[in-house]
Amino acid sequence: MGMGDCIFCKIAKDEIESKIVYQDPDAVAFEDINPRAPVHIVIIPRKHIERISQVGKGDNALIGKLFFIATKLAREKNIESSGYRLVINCNKDAGQEVFHLHLHLLGGRKFAWPPG
Ligand code: AMP
Ligand code: ZN
Repeated sequence: MGMGDCIFCKIAKDEIESKIVYQDPDAVAFEDINPRAPVHIVIIPRKHIERISQVGKGDNALIGKLFFIATKLAREKNIESSGYRLVINCNKDAGQEVFHLHLHLLGGRKFAWPPG
């Protein structure tokens, strides 16, 4: 799938509706449409990178920024002390469904370890 029909590129460009909770010139964060926890936010780079395995050296700062945004949102959503999980699914075995790199911020309940 190219970026032309990528649903997360469309969210980043405000071409389809979403509940955006944060945005800056490099990244966008929005509520997951099918939340798996009381807090479930998806954080994406505006740049269309299909999966974490395709991140290049030049993307180091960008990836770091996604994690920084996640910690900031976790603090704002009051799940910093209770705890939260940051997840990146890559390809089939992890269940990646949308092929635009994204970081899940999940919190507000207890999670199993190891994950199912
Ligand atoms: P993954 O399985 O890691 O690829 O996760 C994709 C996530 O994107 C899932 O949690 C979906 O619920 C979420 N998602 C898919 N389409 C949308 C959308 N239009 N708006 C918000 N979240 C979405
Ligand atoms: Zn995309």
